[in-house]
Parts: sequence; structure tokens; C-alpha cells
Amino acid sequence: MTLSKSFPSQVRANSGRPVLESTPMEVWQGLSASIVDHIASDWAATAKKYAQGRQEHYFSAEFLMGRALLNNLSNLGLVDHARDILSNYGLDLSVILEEEPDAALGNGGLGRLAACFLDSCATLDLPVTGYGILYRYGLFKQLFDNGFQTEHPDPWMEEGYPFVIRREELSRIVEYADLSVRAVPYDMPITGYGTPNVGTLRLWRAEPIEEFDYDAFNSQRFTDAIVDRERTNDISRVLYPNDTTYEGKVLRVRQQYFFCSASLQSILDNYVEQHGKDLHGFAKYNAIQLNDTHPVLAIPELMRLLMDEHGMGWEDAWEEVSQTFAYTNHTVLAEALETWDMGIFDRIFPRIAEIVREIDRRFRVDMSERGLDHATIDYMAPVSGNTVRMAWIACYASYSINGVAALHTEIIKRETLKEWHAIWPERFNNKTNGVTPRRWLKQCNPRLADLLDEVTGSDEWVTDLSVLGRFTDAANDEVLERLAQIKYENKVDFVRWVREREGIDIDPTAIFDVQIKRLHEYKRQLLNAFYILDLYFRLKENPQLDLPKRVFIFGAKAAPGYIRAKAIIKLINAIADVVNNDEDINGRIKVVFVHNYNVSPAEHIIPAADVSEQISTAGKEASGTSNMKFMMNGALTLGTLDGANVEILDAVGPQNAYIFGATEDELPELRRHYDPRWHYENVPGLRRVIDALTDGTLSDNGSGWFHDLRGSLMEFGYEPADVYYVLGDFADYRETKDRMAADYADTRAWAAKAWVNITQSGRFSSDRTIRDYATEVWKIQPSPIA
Ligand SMILES: *Cc1c(COP(=O)(O)O)cnc(C)c1O
Repeated sequence: MTLSKSFPSQVRANSGRPVLESTPMEVWQGLSASIVDHIASDWAATAKKYAQGRQEHYFSAEFLMGRALLNNLSNLGLVDHARDILSNYGLDLSVILEEEPDAALGNGGLGRLAACFLDSCATLDLPVTGYGILYRYGLFKQLFDNGFQTEHPDPWMEEGYPFVIRREELSRIVEYADLSVRAVPYDMPITGYGTPNVGTLRLWRAEPIEEFDYDAFNSQRFTDAIVDRERTNDISRVLYPNDTTYEGKVLRVRQQYFFCSASLQSILDNYVEQHGKDLHGFAKYNAIQLNDTHPVLAIPELMRLLMDEHGMGWEDAWEEVSQTFAYTNHTVLAEALETWDMGIFDRIFPRIAEIVREIDRRFRVDMSERGLDHATIDYMAPVSGNTVRMAWIACYASYSINGVAALHTEIIKRETLKEWHAIWPERFNNKTNGVTPRRWLKQCNPRLADLLDEVTGSDEWVTDLSVLGRFTDAANDEVLERLAQIKYENKVDFVRWVREREGIDIDPTAIFDVQIKRLHEYKRQLLNAFYILDLYFRLKENPQLDLPKRVFIFGAKAAPGYIRAKAIIKLINAIADVVNNDEDINGRIKVVFVHNYNVSPAEHIIPAADVSEQISTAGKEASGTSNMKFMMNGALTLGTLDGANVEILDAVGPQNAYIFGATEDELPELRRHYDPRWHYENVPGLRRVIDALTDGTLSDNGSGWFHDLRGSLMEFGYEPADVYYVLGDFADYRETKDRMAADYADTRAWAAKAWVNITQSGRFSSDRTIRDYATEVWKIQPSPIA
């Protein structure tokens, strides 16, 4: 059936009314359902084909997918067609698209990376399937109450979500010592750009095996039956809103085991169906990438399934396991390396606990045979006392261990995982992250996409972004003028979006300076806030100063238990309150904190950005990916030499990026005699900025939070003071950012720099990252269905 026929019938099936009498939400539902219908047979054909050969399975506790409808329309080449169909009903596609909730099944960069990877795998026809959890509540919705973050539930599927299909018949049972749970897969189709292949993201939902325990009912234990049912549903109820340390530990472990076990059962069943009952060829046909340590329970679980369900001995099972898994490390922050209490394992899955202990025992034997000393073995062992270390299990069992940017990989080899690198250097490799140019350029910035089509003479860049590199030198006056005009029009669109969403008026001729990312001390939103305060004081002191107009844009969620991060949100909102309403300033500085930062706000913000703030303390940001999205959209990086910023600088050259701050190799020495007080007293402007936290200039509404912030920077009671070197980097940051703002006045020179950034962004396409994983780690080939 054609889209123009299936669309109205899908709307009617869903709403019970014709298109013209349906709500915009129902129209979105109907159009989305008709797209799923449109790809159904190609999807089935792809799944069938992939099942037969070697495949890769991407295990991730998070997939930050964002919206699906425009992405699918664009991949299928149906955007104009859909717009025409809707306009026949007097409807506007862009309005309907805004109805869609974000599938926010992730916290930030790690989850969004998984989503970009699936897009690239589909586009490249690679036999890859994603596996995760169908959280009923995605990442919390953020509101501001008096400038304080408040968290609210995000029941994103409540109104119906056509892009997941329940596959009841493929359900599996996941057993815990105290609970058996039914895992029901919900499959999401992953279309690729310009290919009929449709990949799959399989998200598991936990349900009771029987809707009710009727025995319990019949024996008058009504509440027991209900409570048990709720315990089951709990498992896929909510995404943990914290990407570093974890709470609700038992439930968290249950979640991890839940999706690992269900996914492995489904992979093993497919193996048996395709290749027979002898599992010795398992690793020949399957690779599993572990996105951080959250899915590491898959390692002992695959051991269990191979031994207990498929009759293999330990050695043979270990042989398959250690040829199957590859591990991606995402952090150098030691506190973020996951560990669990062995007591939890003993309680909820004693057989897994037993297997983990056996892995530990054999590890210790293996290592002492290699001549390692006792202390090193103890440090590296999967189990230490009562603690299970997930990263060490991953390192021991995986044939590949990778970091996510060149600098990050060097740091994990040199520090975080150095003992492992000493034994197995060949396991280590770098896979610098990337982002999909479909969502992050073609779809979110159609004006720029049109210009690129024109300048390059085709749309080949959409699937091979490196093509743009051939046009770095093609920037004549006309191209640069048009580029500047496109940025201006995007800013005008954004001004309207901000006015409607946040109720703030901003001037599109101002410099749009943007920092959007999770709120974390190491990302140093505080440094940016201090600059704004300092600029404010400079203008107050000398209103005659000839400085360009500035808009500072933030978007960030703080983990609900991370008080210091929440204090920084409150601080930025307090600064906005003062600066935006000061008549002396008269709109020369505006501060906008976009609430509820998520994928779809990012798609509105990034095309309008002039400046990309990437200012983490050097050595702390593994890669960053928003830096790549901004670059692709012609924003210039203001950043430290951290994560992938290093590679961005290498791609564009020092004239086309603004780099400042202490470097990762300088910091240890600088730290040795670091005295934040000295900076407070001697760096111009710093004292009044820091004093403003507590002298009544800014209000924390009596929470005491600003006092604590000041203390964390200045007082040695906080050990040690200013861990993230905010005061140490302030002077260089201020100088660099001032220089950058001054450079903005030369529109042509600025556009020329932006052009270099756009055309040199090819290596930051997730297509490049995925090609590298496919050939170097997964050893898989494209498998087109047509
Ligand atoms: C890209 C992205 C991130 C990652 O941002 P970083 O600045 O690299 O930390 C986080 N959240 C969302 C919604 C994103 O789109």
C-alpha cells in the first residue's frame, strides 16, 4: 500500500476518526505506524539474512534514540512526500514532528553514541543488532523551580509508540534465585540512509510469567500476588539517572542481568537454529560489544548458558567466551568503574556468583604462572574480598579493549588499565567516537545540507562525510557569504524556539555561545559561569566598553543526588536572573538555560551555535561527541586539549579552533604546588566573581549551596581544593574567549573558519568509527538485502 493510502487508514485505526478530526498526536501516531508498515517486509528480510551469517551484537544499558519519525522519513527519502500528504489535509509536517516524545533511554554521551552507531550500522548494511532495556520511564524530565532543578517522570510511551513492535512469541525467561521473570522483546526498526536494509534494536521489557499468581490469590494472599508482580515490573521500570555512581544497587544488578540473559538466550537460540547444537562455532558467528561495564554480566551468563544449558566444559566455554566479547571503556574517572557487592550476586543469582568466583580463581592461577607478583594479582583480580569488579572481568575475558578517543586510549593504556596493557598490549585499540551526519547535519540543518549538496555537486557526503574534505579550499566569497547567511537564519529560527519554550528574547546578531552536556564538575560549566559573571562586572564597571553582544546558552541535567551539580545549575540560573534583568546591561549579555536538555533540543540548538564550549579539565573527558556535532554545523570549538578536541584541533589546524588551558601532561606538576587562593587573589577579576557567590549579589535562596561551591574551590577542608582546576585555567580561558569574541566581528574570516570545521568533520562521522569497528574488531562484512 502506498503511504498516501496507508496514512489515513492508520490514523483511523488508531484514533477511530478521520485525519481531519484527529489530534496532532494521533496524526503523528498514524504517520509513524504507516512508516513501520512501509518497511515491514524489508525489515523481516534483513533479520533473516543477518541471522544466517556472522553478526555483531551491541549490548548497551542505554540507547538515547531521540525522535524517530523524521529520521526514518529522511533515511527512506520520504520527507517531501510526507509533507505533501499532510498538506493535502492542511497539516504542517514540522508541527506534527514536534508532537513526538524523545525516546530518552539514556543519560548522555554513552547512550547517544549507541544510537549513532546503530544508524551507521544500518546505513552500511552491517549485520548488527542492538540490545537494551525498554525502560518505562526514560531519563527524568527537568523543570526549574526558582532556578532549582526539579525531576519529573517521563512515561514516554504512555500515549502509544508505533516504533516498537512487541514480539510476544520471542519471549524468554530470566531466572533469579528469588524471582522468575518473563523478558518480552520490543523490536525497533533501524533504517539506514538510502538502503532497503533495516536493522533492529531489541529492547526487553520485564513482565510476570503469569499475569497473576492465582495460587496466591486463591489462598487469600492477594497482596503477595500484587507485590510480586510489581517486583517484576520494577526491573524495566526506570533508567538510572546517573552515569557515574549507582544507587538502588540490587535493582540495578537485576536490570543488567535481565537484558544480558535475555539477549544471550535469543542469540544462542538463533545459533542452534542456524548452525546446530554444537556450540563450538559460537564465536565464529558472533561478536558482542560491551558498551561500558553495564553489560559485563553477559560474560558469566554466557559461561553459564554454554555449560549448564548446552553441556560444554569450562575450557571449551571459556574459549568461546574469550573470542566473543569486546569491551569499550568510557571513563578515566576511577570512581565510575563499577563494582558490586558479592553478597548481591550470592543472593539473586548464586550460580553466576559461583562462575565469577571460578573466573577469579583461574585468573589468579593464570597470572601467577605468568610470574606476576601477589600485589598485582590481587589488584587485578575479578573478585577482591567481597567486591566484584566489572571492568576487570571485562578486561580479562575480552579479545578487544578500546578507548573512545586517541588521548583517552593513551590514558587507559598508561594509567587506568596499565596492568592489563602490560600483559595484553595487543588487545588495546582506539576507536575515536563519531556522530551520524544524517541526524546531526542533514536533518537538523537542512539549509547547510542544501549548500553542501550544491558546492559538492551531489549528496554523496551524506554517506561519506570525508568527501567534504576535498572542498575545504573551495570557499569563495559567495560560499562564505551564504554560509554566514545560513547561520543567521538558523539563529532566527532558534530565537523563535527559545521565545516559545523558555519565554526569553534573544538577539540573533549576538554571538551564540553554547555549552550543552550533562552537568558534571569535570565538564566545568562553572568556568563558563565565572566568565559570564566577570564579563558582567566588566561591563558594569565600564559601560563604554566596546564589546560584542553575547548570548550564553546552557542545557544540562544533573543526577538527582549530585548536589554540587545541582548547585551549579542554580548558580547559572541566578546569574541569568541578575544579568538578563539589569538595565545597565541592556541586553548586551543574555543567559539562557534551556530546560530539559535532550536529543531534540540539541537538534534545535546546535545549528544555531557560533561557539562550542568543550572546556573539561584536560584528561577527564573520554571523548565528547557534542564537540563533533557542533563542528559539523560550523560552530568553532573553544576547548581544552581533552578527549576528541585534540583530534578536532588536528583536523582543522590551530587557526580554526580556540584552545586554552593546562594540558593533561602538565597538570600533575601544576597540581603539586597549586594554590587556588593565590589565583583568587592575583588573577584579574577572579576575586569579585568568587565573592559574588556569597556576598548577596546572587541568591541561592538560603540553601547554602553557593557557600559550598565557594568552599569546594578555595578551602582545604575540601580535600583537595578545586580538584578540576577551575581557578587555575580561568585567566587563559578569559583571554582566549575574549579574543574569540573579538574575532567574531570579521564575518568573512569567521565564516572561513566555520567552513574549515564543517569540511574537515569527515573523520568524526560515526560511519568512520563503525567501519573501523567492523573491520578491526568485529570482522563482519556488509550484507545488503538487495
Ligand atoms: C551528544 C549528546 C550528549 C553528549 O554530549 P557531550 O558534550 O559530548 O558530553 C549528551 N546528551 C545529548 C542529548 C546529546 O545529544
